[in-house]
Amino acid sequence: MALRQIRILGDTILEKACRPVKEITPRTKELIQDMLDTMYDACGVGLAAPQVGILKRIVVIDIGEGPIVMVNPEILETSGEQTGQEGCLSLPGQAGIVTRPNYVKVRAYNENMEEYELEATELLARAVCHECDHLDGIMYIRHVEGDLFDVEAEDEMPEEE
Ligand code: ZN
Repeated sequence: MALRQIRILGDTILEKACRPVKEITPRTKELIQDMLDTMYDACGVGLAAPQVGILKRIVVIDIGEGPIVMVNPEILETSGEQTGQEGCLSLPGQAGIVTRPNYVKVRAYNENMEEYELEATELLARAVCHECDHLDGIMYIRHVEGDLFDVEAEDEMPEEE
């Protein structure tokens, strides 16, 4: 298990757009595994490559239903709305209220560069939107309604209202 350092808000790498992955190399697989290890170690539900300093379009998500690896994810469809608490491993100890689509359909590649589509609702839809935003250099605070507030460390993951 290899943990990578999570970049914190203020690090300009979090504001940059990421490049698409052209091929999965052994180093890419190592990065994906490290991202999963780092996410679990930090008790997060999602992590995007720029959060560990790599400007590639890769995200990992686990909302408690098993790991999801998304390489070059593209949101194809969204619908509905959900408003709830959202946090980010790059802004530890804080959260805010964000409105996101309640449904997303996303196309991505897995760690073997096999294309797949995923339909997600509620928390998973929120996580997909949050992580895909990271790939375009967007932190969730851009979407926050009202002020950020402090949360206990174990409450960092997004929660439904
Ligand atoms: Zn985040």
